[in-house]
Amino acid sequence: MVLAFIEHVAGAPTMLSLEVLTMANRLAREMDTQLEAVAIGAQATAAAGILSSYGVSTLHVADDQRLDDYASAAWAHAIAEFAGQVNPRVMIGTASDRGGEVMAHVAARMTLPMAANCTEIVPGDPFTVTRQRWGGSLLEEAHLNGTIKLLTLAPHALAAETSPSRTQVVTAAFSPALDDKDFRVRLKPQVEAETGKISLAQARVVVGGGRGVGSAEGFAALEELAGLLGGAVGCSRAVTSLGWRPHSDQVGQTGTRIAPDLYIACGISGAIQHMVGCRAAKHILAINTDPAAPIVAQADYAVIGDVQKVLSAVNAEVRRVKAGEPSRSPA
Ligand SMILES: Cc1cc2nc3c(=O)[nH]c(=O)nc-3n(C[C@H](O)[C@H](O)[C@H](O)COP(=O)(O)OP(=O)(O)OC[C@H]3O[C@@H](n4cnc5c(N)ncnc54)[C@H](O)[C@@H]3O)c2cc1C
Repeated sequence: MVLAFIEHVAGAPTMLSLEVLTMANRLAREMDTQLEAVAIGAQATAAAGILSSYGVSTLHVADDQRLDDYASAAWAHAIAEFAGQVNPRVMIGTASDRGGEVMAHVAARMTLPMAANCTEIVPGDPFTVTRQRWGGSLLEEAHLNGTIKLLTLAPHALAAETSPSRTQVVTAAFSPALDDKDFRVRLKPQVEAETGKISLAQARVVVGGGRGVGSAEGFAALEELAGLLGGAVGCSRAVTSLGWRPHSDQVGQTGTRIAPDLYIACGISGAIQHMVGCRAAKHILAINTDPAAPIVAQADYAVIGDVQKVLSAVNAEVRRVKAGEPSRSPA
């Protein structure tokens, strides 16, 4: 069996979990075995409907209310105990903050090796994996041993793809023998993100700003463009360090990994730690005064110029097009 550890929000699997299911389904077919999933927390059973499109035969849900709030050691205890009972050949989770933390705990509890941040997985004995190191700036080929192959999948290593045929998902509950000690560290309370705002990780268009934007107020033009295009605003770490934007807006190695159709990088130099977070973007448009900035070489399109002047023209044009007015062609 290939066992996928699924993260969800009120029963809706996260995008990274759908990517994990896509990889897990592929592995299960290559290894000629079935795909099952394990999830934790209230409402997890609601995920069954979506899982049926990803080749899952059984969804196992830990039945203990104390697990509803995130507690890495307790979640890992539940999953490791369950894995010890069903003995999967492969267990795979996301390389999100939570996925990585829980899977590392699972590996430690089961004294198994784990390959984190994989981008490619070739079954065999041992498994051959390609994985991201140093925040994605280095790709390493490694061999993974262990009676159960434990892996996490790097964000956006592949696109989530449903299975050609739907399965009938059976839901089964299991009751782990948890210990009070497992709950010494747990998440409480949880602050909900602003409603109505498009999430950076899911946005199809991201307008990112760097130090070159000049000030917190300078982000007004980026907010306007993101609003016009139905996207979200992101930023570089220089910007969060300056206190211009919250850390939740940061794109990169120590921020959010994004995978939009279009990333408009405004006044961002393109440091490796930033590019790690936006390399899954389908297209990058850089706006920068410096033609030699690293991001210009990595972008699909570049406009060399002052970000406020360029955005003022772009926003005016997008507004005009959206209003159905004829575009002003250059003389
Ligand atoms: C361990 C570690 C983790 C890190 N994690 C992250 C991370 O997650 N995300 C991240 O972003 N960084 C991260 N960094 C920091 C990273 O190395 C860079 O310092 C940072 O990305 C630089 O931000 P920036 O491009 O906004 O600023 P700068 O490097 O200062 O670049 C500013 C750019 O703006 C251009 N510019 C200036 N004025 C204008 C103008 N008027 N119009 C247009 N362009 C203009 C300049 O030509 C320049 O290219 C990390 C660093 C470390 C060591």
